[in-house]
Amino acid sequence: MKLSNYVAGRWTEGRGTGVALLDPVLGTELARASTESIDFAGALEYGRHKGGPVLRALSYAERAGLLKSIAEVLSSNRKTYLDIALANSGSPEGDASIDIDGAIFTLKYYARIGAALGGGSYLKDGELVRLAKDEAFQALHISQPLRGVAILINAFNFPAWGLWEKASPALLSGMPVFAKPATATAWLTQRMVEDVVKAGALPDGALSVVCGGAGDLLDHVTAADVVSFTGSAATASRIRSHAAVLRHSTRVNVEADSLNAALLGPEAKAGTPEFDLLVREVVREMTVKAGQKCTAIRRILAPADQCDAVADAIRAKLAKIVVGNPRNKDVRMGPLVSKSQQQAALEGLAALKRETSVVFDGGPDFRPLDADPTLAAFVPPTLLSCGDALAAHAVHDVEVFGPAATVVPYAGTEQAFAIARLGQGSLVASVFSADAQFLRQAAVELAESHGRVLAVNAAIGSIHTGHGNVMPQCMHGGPGRAGGGEELGGLRALAFYHRRSAIQGPVECLDGIAAQAAELRY
Ligand code: NAP
Repeated sequence: MKLSNYVAGRWTEGRGTGVALLDPVLGTELARASTESIDFAGALEYGRHKGGPVLRALSYAERAGLLKSIAEVLSSNRKTYLDIALANSGSPEGDASIDIDGAIFTLKYYARIGAALGGGSYLKDGELVRLAKDEAFQALHISQPLRGVAILINAFNFPAWGLWEKASPALLSGMPVFAKPATATAWLTQRMVEDVVKAGALPDGALSVVCGGAGDLLDHVTAADVVSFTGSAATASRIRSHAAVLRHSTRVNVEADSLNAALLGPEAKAGTPEFDLLVREVVREMTVKAGQKCTAIRRILAPADQCDAVADAIRAKLAKIVVGNPRNKDVRMGPLVSKSQQQAALEGLAALKRETSVVFDGGPDFRPLDADPTLAAFVPPTLLSCGDALAAHAVHDVEVFGPAATVVPYAGTEQAFAIARLGQGSLVASVFSADAQFLRQAAVELAESHGRVLAVNAAIGSIHTGHGNVMPQCMHGGPGRAGGGEELGGLRALAFYHRRSAIQGPVECLDGIAAQAAELRY
């Protein structure tokens, strides 16, 4: 099967043999993807001239209705998507659900908050401001959807959510979407787009997808387009420095890698609820999606005298995780997505092991259940321990995109915050403490270098949404090496797909413009 590309309103196969998409457990070929001979320039132009005007003519509430229709289409095909995720990503149902149900939840959320924006088709930004002594002359800021295409380039680990968490605010804003999923897992994205297109849920030109390499896609961006990228820092820097992106000042949002931390409060000893909550969260983060989450906990910061207890408690839980073929119902953790990701993770672990000791790695007898380790892409859950946080480099720098984390000791709260910052800007930190003052202080300290901070005490232990879960209500993205991007955050996400402008003029003209606008309220 060759995955068809949907561009310029038509399904088109790329030329040549393409790239194989594989089952990461069995090693068998599932499909092929090729973008050879795809006319990227024409595809973008079609979106700009066909999809854009129709979307922009709709109100926010009408566009929200489109999102609702997409969510309905996806919900009715959910079982097919679970099967594809199992075959192509090796995902147990729980892992696949995070991606697929997370996508549907995000679409429904934007459908709901978009409907509340009502009948306008552009946004009012703040109130009228006086510019002169005479009140007759004032200014108003408005934001309008960009007249280009939202080019959404995604990583392999979230083929469903990765598309729709970006496409929801883009479509709600009135921008057509051009989806470029990672080739290794493009099948799920492609199937979702196919279902949405077949159902006629969107106007012609509002949604395109290509499966395979990006080709000369970026050569054709304009000032009116946006590029929203999720993936590695290396690819991000190629995209940012692309000649056409620079020439046209094309807006780029980057979600890259991250050395996220979980921090155990200084008072939280073994046996306290907060200690147990941290241990539970770390084990979940290490094993869900086999640790292939940009938000996963990579560093566990604990008071020096608690590190052994933390390591022991995590090791005991990891030892019970059944790793293997997700077709076996006893399996909790599946493989990495490909042999090349397995190789990259093992190389990263080798770098980490040069400055850490191994607490748990499944041992020499580790063998995935119901799978041939020579064909499959498994990495055992691996817990490491670092002796001196400030002398370590790789621990704060090497992102092993798999089921791995390192226990890191700290001496004093200021040092704990400084160690968290050695991640050079991260997506998320979580703090576990019963000390209300420490929880407040840590949250504010860490917020400057982290896109999100989760503060946990026993009172919210069973109700919080999790360290790694990205909720559409909250901003996703982080400074520095995390890419400097901002996604989601409710209606805040619309800003990326709009251009702000100041209009100066007679007050009655501005009042008329304001009256037609939708108003952002967070
Ligand atoms: P990647 O190799 O950088 O690929 C990401 C995407 O970029 C893929 O669709 C890839 O296409 C495409 N691409 C590669 N070269 C390109 C170019 N020159 N121009 C345009 N597009 C290009 O990343 P990955 O291996 O898929 O993902 C793993 C990384 O993503 C990890 O570092 C992880 O931390 C990060 N990540 C971050 C977040 C976040 O929200 N911050 C979320 C998930 C993952 P091909 O597949 O065809 O090469």
